[in-house]
Amino acid sequence: MNTEKSSACFKEAEKYIPGGVNSPVRAFKAVKRSPLFIKRALGSKIYDIDGNELIDYVCSWGPCILGHAPEPVISAVRQVCEKGLSFGAPTELETELAKMVVEAVGAIEKVRLVSSGTEAVMSAIRVARGYTGRNKIIKFTGNYHGHSDGLLVKAGSGLMTESVPDSAGVPEGYAAYTLTAEYNNKDSVERLFAAQKEDIAAVIVEPVAANMGVVPPREGFLKFLREITEKNGALLIFDEVITGFRLCYGGACDLFRIKPDLVTLGKIVGGGMPLAAYGGAEEIMGVLAPEGAVYQAGTLSGNPIAVTAGLETLKELKAHPEIYNRMDENAGRLAEAFRKKGLQVNRAGSLLSAFFTEQPVTDYASALTSDTEKFADYFSKMLEAGIYVAPSQFEAMFVSAAHSREDILKTEEAIALL
Ligand SMILES: *Cc1c(COP(=O)(O)O)cnc(C)c1O
Repeated sequence: MNTEKSSACFKEAEKYIPGGVNSPVRAFKAVKRSPLFIKRALGSKIYDIDGNELIDYVCSWGPCILGHAPEPVISAVRQVCEKGLSFGAPTELETELAKMVVEAVGAIEKVRLVSSGTEAVMSAIRVARGYTGRNKIIKFTGNYHGHSDGLLVKAGSGLMTESVPDSAGVPEGYAAYTLTAEYNNKDSVERLFAAQKEDIAAVIVEPVAANMGVVPPREGFLKFLREITEKNGALLIFDEVITGFRLCYGGACDLFRIKPDLVTLGKIVGGGMPLAAYGGAEEIMGVLAPEGAVYQAGTLSGNPIAVTAGLETLKELKAHPEIYNRMDENAGRLAEAFRKKGLQVNRAGSLLSAFFTEQPVTDYASALTSDTEKFADYFSKMLEAGIYVAPSQFEAMFVSAAHSREDILKTEEAIALL
């Protein structure tokens, strides 16, 4: 595969952008290659500047659940663009999107729109602290909640492949407020509550972990988190930035029938534009300014372009529930193809990961047993076969509504030849 132009562009980008990229994992370092520069994408396919056509299983890291450039979304965005990009004042569109989110996610009665998942999580945690009057939070090793200071402690995603367990530049004081427990391990949570229950404002969890590769919760784990937080006066926050509108229309809350106190959304809810959201019970969200004492704001929050992209995406998903069945079936076929090659496969609906390890992956420690050299080799082989997967063992493979039976067949064949 010819990637001459991409390589040249990367060299140019490196002159002006740290590492040549605006988000670390895009640099392809973990797979020892130079990244592809993308020109355009449509449906299930992405096209680089060297003219290569690839079946895309990155899908912008989750938002593009309908595939790329879906017609209803693009035409609605085009129309709204002509009326102005941002007003910094309320619009009817925001209420319409908020209403759709409230109707979709049982745990959300009131919702605020922000511009990134990082911002949604950071704000939800501030609300939890403001509401409980406590300072500490519990997060799980290998769960990623964006790059705000207090959440870069033992996080997943790019931090796993770049071999930086924690980021430099985060004052120790911040980390002292972030307690870490092991995913799928009840004891580790119980110990933290036993020692400091009066200080714990919230437990934040990815209900299906998807930033250390996909790691589903063990039976009863989420229910246990609901019970222990309730018992100790702490809030439970589901970070559904990946799982929201993905596992099913109502996300993990609906799938697992658990009602957390706060939910963060991102990726799909913005339909490919910078938009995220956080919400919860009216009483809890009531602590936010201008009504309450917890401050959170945003110049571009709820701008009409991002809101329209989100709205149209949700409308499509809601109108076509069969999309979820199709994605589930296609992802199941890919999972089976990986299993036949002897890989460990974890899957939750249209999210999946094949791990290059002998042991089942149930948490951070077992995820780290994956052979990342073998992963890099796999990545290159897939690319040569015209298939674009995430350039890291610790990111999910995203199946979208646009992946056709033909795409899946082609991918199954490539997997069989690994
Ligand atoms: C992607 C992600 C975030 C961060 O969202 P950004 O929009 O990248 O800031 C937070 N939490 C989870 C679970 C995510 O997958």
